[in-house]
Amino acid sequence: MKRSSILIIYTGGTIGMRRNENGTLVPFDFNTIEQEFPAVRNLNVDISVHKMEPIDSSNVTPARWSELAHIIANNYTDYDGFVVLHGTDTMSYTASALSFMLDNLSKPVIFTGSQIPMGILRTDGRENLITAIELAAATDAQGDALVPEVALYFQNRLFRANRTSKHSAEALSAFESRNLPPLAEVGVNIVYNYSVISKPCVKDAPLQVKDRLDKNIIIVKLFPGLSHESFKAMLSIEGVRGVVLETYGTGNAPTAEWFINTLREVIARGVAVVNITQCQGGAVAMQLYETGRQLQEAGVICGYDMTSEAAVTKLMWLLGQELSNEEIAAAMERSLRGELTN
Ligand code: ASP
Repeated sequence: MKRSSILIIYTGGTIGMRRNENGTLVPFDFNTIEQEFPAVRNLNVDISVHKMEPIDSSNVTPARWSELAHIIANNYTDYDGFVVLHGTDTMSYTASALSFMLDNLSKPVIFTGSQIPMGILRTDGRENLITAIELAAATDAQGDALVPEVALYFQNRLFRANRTSKHSAEALSAFESRNLPPLAEVGVNIVYNYSVISKPCVKDAPLQVKDRLDKNIIIVKLFPGLSHESFKAMLSIEGVRGVVLETYGTGNAPTAEWFINTLREVIARGVAVVNITQCQGGAVAMQLYETGRQLQEAGVICGYDMTSEAAVTKLMWLLGQELSNEEIAAAMERSLRGELTN
């Protein structure tokens, strides 16, 4: 079988830290990866490394997502797959954004990182990195990639990236995908869940980077006691074009007149308001209760079972494309990259 070639893109985060002679944590030189981890030589994979200016992922910006998307596009024909090493804090945001920005993707882009720095003996980074490379390189008998989508590998599970959230600051299994089963589970063997993995709609269509995002959005998380003044003030911020509303349960919110009227006013001004649930699992179904039905009548868009990370990045991305309000609402309610179930 032909050797796969994989490009590792290092962006920063805990995975890239090692101890120097003085015992302090310093960035790891991924160009020496094969000397550090001789095990990667046994993978039957050619590895190259592209190092971005390393950052703590709390500092990530949409401009950086665009830079990353272009690195992938510029190297697309030379590699069979990509492994992106990223800080865990915002990995689900970056990976969700990339899933929308990379149009016609037909090669694996696997995000991973670690909770314990690479240079610490008990690191989870070594296994995450080695398995991510193996997943990015895996092909079927025809030589087609087994996972041709943006995915996130962490602690024995490969997820569709835009279905994930970081759920623990402590556990080594830091990521969850509550509304979609893993694309693969890693034990003694790697077991792929073929029925869940997306295949490209058009095979061999050229990859296109659609990196225009509009940052003029806000997230509003409901809580009992949220006042009319604060709600109105947040929704009236100048320039806001989109609101991700984190509601209760199956998409419920107060039925108070001031609440519904505030939403009606902003929607009438052309602001896209998307309803997602604060619950970790399950979906919005606005028709179930009166408290949800009123939102539907006010013109709120249903976010179904999207994570906040997927809803925020999808809304930014759709607002960045030249679409009408109706097209944005329709696309928000439709699965574009497997990010929602409806
Ligand atoms: N603060 C770090 C980051 O997200 C944490 C990590 O990498 O796990 O960059």
